[in-house]
Amino acid sequence: MLTGSCHCGAVTIQVSRKPRTLTSCNCSICRRHAGLWGYYDKGQIKILARKNALDRYVWGDRCLALCRCATCGCVTHWEPIDRASNRMGVNFRNFDPSVIESTRIRRLDGANTWKLLD
Ligand SMILES: [Zn+2]
Repeated sequence: MLTGSCHCGAVTIQVSRKPRTLTSCNCSICRRHAGLWGYYDKGQIKILARKNALDRYVWGDRCLALCRCATCGCVTHWEPIDRASNRMGVNFRNFDPSVIESTRIRRLDGANTWKLLD
């Protein structure tokens, strides 16, 4: 079990294991907040937060909501809008830096081709 949290501690994220890779994406939103994404099935993630502790940002084709702490603003994860979708992304910037240091980072061209650049 790995546990991360936003800066103020209002939002805690638990995942069952380290991701095999992390993704750095250059799309219009990711390039701005500079998250490093690990992808999981919903059942492998626990988000612990009080009601109203999270703000959600939805844009464009409205396929996912980007979630951030309403207090400190750290982007913690994204969740699918479509309830049938099982995939979620966790921002590993909220975890101990040793997790990032020991995990391969892939660069995703989310802005254009949706292909990996490395
Ligand atoms: Zn916070």
